[in-house]
Amino acid sequence: ATPVSILVGTGRGAELGLLFRRGDALQRLSEVAVVGFDKTGTLTEGHPALTDLEPLADLPETEILALAAGAEARSEHPLARAILAEAETRGIAHAPVKRVKALSGKGLRAQAEGAKLWIGNAGAMDEAGADIAPYAERAKALAAKGRTPVWMSLDDRPVALMALSDPIKPEAREAVDALHKAGKQVAMVTGDTRATAEAVGHDLGIDRIEAEVLPDGKRDAVESLRQIGPVAFVGDGINDAPALAAADVGLAIGTGTDVAIEAAEVVLMRGDPNGVAMALELSRAVMRNIR
Ligand code: ADP
Ligand code: MG
Repeated sequence: ATPVSILVGTGRGAELGLLFRRGDALQRLSEVAVVGFDKTGTLTEGHPALTDLEPLADLPETEILALAAGAEARSEHPLARAILAEAETRGIAHAPVKRVKALSGKGLRAQAEGAKLWIGNAGAMDEAGADIAPYAERAKALAAKGRTPVWMSLDDRPVALMALSDPIKPEAREAVDALHKAGKQVAMVTGDTRATAEAVGHDLGIDRIEAEVLPDGKRDAVESLRQIGPVAFVGDGINDAPALAAADVGLAIGTGTDVAIEAAEVVLMRGDPNGVAMALELSRAVMRNIR
């Protein structure tokens, strides 16, 4: 591409809310065959709310939420904020918990009075030694609605099954459709439970779903998408930075974290996943003019 056409292209991009941090991204975008999206905060709003709370033992709801809030107060995860918000709405004070430790890609563990407290996905329950098999159907039914099941145990005793729902962004379906029309494959890469990811992914018409990806695994997911062809990756979180850097073109959601924006070559300033199709269209127009 000539410097002038790149300049015109990046200028036009700015009008569309697309910030090109590197000029050569325009050229590489025109070659992209598959677009991978992070789920939470990219295709969904990133602001989940607690929708379900099922006690599994003799512990009442208020005590479940008091303990959960006590531990989640130390977490920055969107799911943590949803649990804290629910406790606050119900006027429930946090139970005293100590030594909160994050379990990467799984949840957290803490010391409550008289027992170890575990909160998170099935992997967290596995580490707790808690048998959740008797409740698997209930969790599956919640996940089939696109909700994320969150378990809580005291030592190895399961005490609660919660579910959190994160609404899909209104523009997300249009974004996937536009990419399909442009002949691109669309993938989703997420740390979320497989059944939840599949419910959301099928709803959006996404071709390929990589779920239960641990934080270190998002880069590997990008590498495996490369079998299809050059990869664009779209994300917003700190844990998306390695995938954004590994992709042929990384696109960060402008409302996302600074770490993601630093790792990306294009920033979607309007926080709208539709910006990806616009960026691809722009790159095609620029490259066409040059040839
Ligand atoms: P993602 O944000 O894409 O879901 P993470 O690696 O941050 O990926 O988390 C993976 C999964 O671990 C979450 O979907 C959730 O089930 C569980 N998890 C992580 N952090 C917490 C937390 N603070 N509270 C409850 N569950 C958590
Ligand atoms: Mg995210």
